[in-house]
Formats: sequence, structure tokens, C-alpha cells
Amino acid sequence: MDIFAKCRAFTEAREAKAAGLYPYFIPLSDTEATEVTIDGRRLIMIGSNNYLGLTTHPKVRQAAIEATKRYGTSCTGSRFLNGTLELHLELERRLAEYVGTEAALVFSTGYQTNVGTISALVGRGDYVITDKDDHASIVDGCRLAFGETRRFNHSDMEHLERVLAGLPDEAGRLVVVDGVFSMGGDIAPLPEIVALCQKYGARLMVDDAHAIGVLGGGRGTAAHFGLTDKVDLTMGTFSKSFASLGGFIAGAEDVVHYVQHYARSMIFSASIPPANAAAALAALEVMQEEPERIARVNQIGERMRNEYRRLGFNVGNSATPVVPIIIGDNIRTFTAWKMLFEAGVYTNPVIPPAVPPELSLLRTSYMATHTDEQLDRVLETFEQVGKTLGLIG
Ligand code: PMP
Repeated sequence: MDIFAKCRAFTEAREAKAAGLYPYFIPLSDTEATEVTIDGRRLIMIGSNNYLGLTTHPKVRQAAIEATKRYGTSCTGSRFLNGTLELHLELERRLAEYVGTEAALVFSTGYQTNVGTISALVGRGDYVITDKDDHASIVDGCRLAFGETRRFNHSDMEHLERVLAGLPDEAGRLVVVDGVFSMGGDIAPLPEIVALCQKYGARLMVDDAHAIGVLGGGRGTAAHFGLTDKVDLTMGTFSKSFASLGGFIAGAEDVVHYVQHYARSMIFSASIPPANAAAALAALEVMQEEPERIARVNQIGERMRNEYRRLGFNVGNSATPVVPIIIGDNIRTFTAWKMLFEAGVYTNPVIPPAVPPELSLLRTSYMATHTDEQLDRVLETFEQVGKTLGLIG
């Protein structure tokens, strides 16, 4: 049996492309964050994670340029060996201070942060307990860990309690949830999760990829609920509000120190380049200097959720600037994506296995820098497409 036979048999993506319904890996020839150019056409971008619009902020851009001039383009090695700059340590200090923990550790991506942290901490005999809607990088961290994984239905606290109650008394246990769920834009019920973790002696890790820069005045989900000292580990990524690339884990010094010496995804991978570290640091400063951006992206999220609902769209339980338009059918989701795309609005279609079939959706997400005019155009286009496809009355 040729191991490549499956590759020849994999034709779905080519067929979708031939039918003009393939929405992935589309190259942008230009981008100004809120608008992008594709095949010479300008589209309004409501499919990015650039929540604060900082990828084009003069201070962030300049910091990346200056760092490249000073240190060069790459660290060409792991944090563990030659790849740690003072800049990385400065970034870690400032991140820990920002999220309110003793220490923080920078990884090369958010994906590697989750994979490395979970697989380092959840050893043989331990349990990791995850929400079924947790990000793929958490799922992969669990697969790499030597301990066992238990999953609970999305934000179902009764189910979480049953799972926790069923674990052996002496076993170590780590509950891992997304603070803001990346597809639904809903917020994890942290007060209830914290209470259950305390009742059953579990540690809690929150993936705040979509929450830092957005919730809790920018400081994330724990701050949003006033629970900063009740969350043991906060994970963040630089690929969203921080307008860069990289990730971090923040928590107690001894835990971060342990992860630093056992997380293979950090030890065996090169550190983020100077430009990325400097951009993330500058973005962190802007978050504190320009809180109006955080307020604006939240206002936009609220406006869009309300307007979509008023038009008759199903936005699920979104409570953030991530607003899904739930369609619940793959073909209609792709057709709506295509019509919006042709009308100049860039969204992301999300279908199984990323979501259950009844929740196929268009993921929309907003930036502090979207103008009201851009958002008006988005809503008009959604209304037209929704009516044409019978998604709304
Ligand atoms: N966690 C969540 C919830 C995410 O949405 C993402 C990115 N989509 C990641 C982790 C991974 O982050 P990165 O892009 O930095 O690898």
C-alpha cells in the first residue's frame, strides 16, 4: 500500500476550488488591516483577529523595524540556548505584571504554548479536563501529555462537576478552558469553573487568546470576572490583539520555571524574532496608553451583535467582538461566504469538524479601527445576502 494513496484520493478541496467555492488559503496582495486587496479587488476584512488594529499602529510598526535594525532578523535558536534576548525577558516581566501573575514565559506561537504547557504539566497518573469547544492546540497538548484527558460538554457545569467527581482522589488535575471561545465568541463561565476547581482540588488554566486586549480592560477573562488570583495559569497569544506572532503562559513563578524546563515545544524550537518580541511589547504599551481602543472594539462587538439579531441572524451566545453567524448547513454557509466575498466582505466559513454540523457558521470578528461606514456596508451586504438565501425574513 503506497502511503501517498490517501493524498491522491483526497479530492474534496480540488472539487470545491473547481466549483469556485473554496474559501481557504486565499492570498491577499495587500492589507491595511480593515481593508484588504484580493485579485485587485478591495474587501472589508471582518475575518481577522487584529482586535485592536495594532498591526499598522505607527508605534508597533516602528518597534519591529528598530528591533530588526538593532538585533537582525532572527534569533536562530531556542530560548533554552542562544535564542533569549533581554527583550524576551523584558516582555515576560511586562506580561506577568499586566495579567497579574508572578511570572510569564514566551513561546514561539500560542499553539506551542498550549501544547508545551499542557504536555509538561499533565504527567502519568494526572488528568487534564477540557471543554469540548477548546482550541485545537489544547486538544493537541492533551494528546501529547502522558496523563489522561476527560472532556465536558461546552460550558456545561453539571457535566464538568460529574467529570471532576469521578476522578481518583489522589490524582493531579488541570482544567483547561478557552476564556473566549474562538468560534462562538462566548465567554467561559469562570466563576462557576473556579468554584468547581476549588471544590475538587483542580488547577485552572485559561486560554485567553481572544480575551487579552478585549475583556477585563484588556487584561483578560479573569480580570473581566474579578478573579485574577483564582486562575492558576493564563495563556495568551501575540497573533491577535498583540499584532505579532508568539505566545505566553503566565502564572506562579515555580510553575512557570518548571514549564520552562519541561515544555518541549519551547526547548526544541527557535524563539520569536526580535521584531515580533518588540512588536508585542509595543502593543502591550499601546493597550495601556490607548484604552479607548479596547472600549471601541467592545462597542463595535455589541453594535454588530445587536444589528445582526435585529436583522434576524442567529449569533448564538456571542458576548465579544467575535460574532458568529450560525447557518447550520455547509452548502448554505459556503454560498453565503461566496456571495459576501463577491460583494466585498471577507468572512471565514467554519464547518465540521471545527463545529458540529448544525452549527456551521460564518465567523465574523471586529477591530477597534473599523469605521462606522465600513460596518454599515457590512450590515447592508449581510442583509442582502441573508434575504437572497432565505437566511432571514
Ligand atoms: N488558542 C486559541 C483559542 C486560538 O484561537 C489560537 C489561534 N487561533 C491559538 C490558541 C493559537 O495561537 P497562535 O496563532 O499564536 O498559534
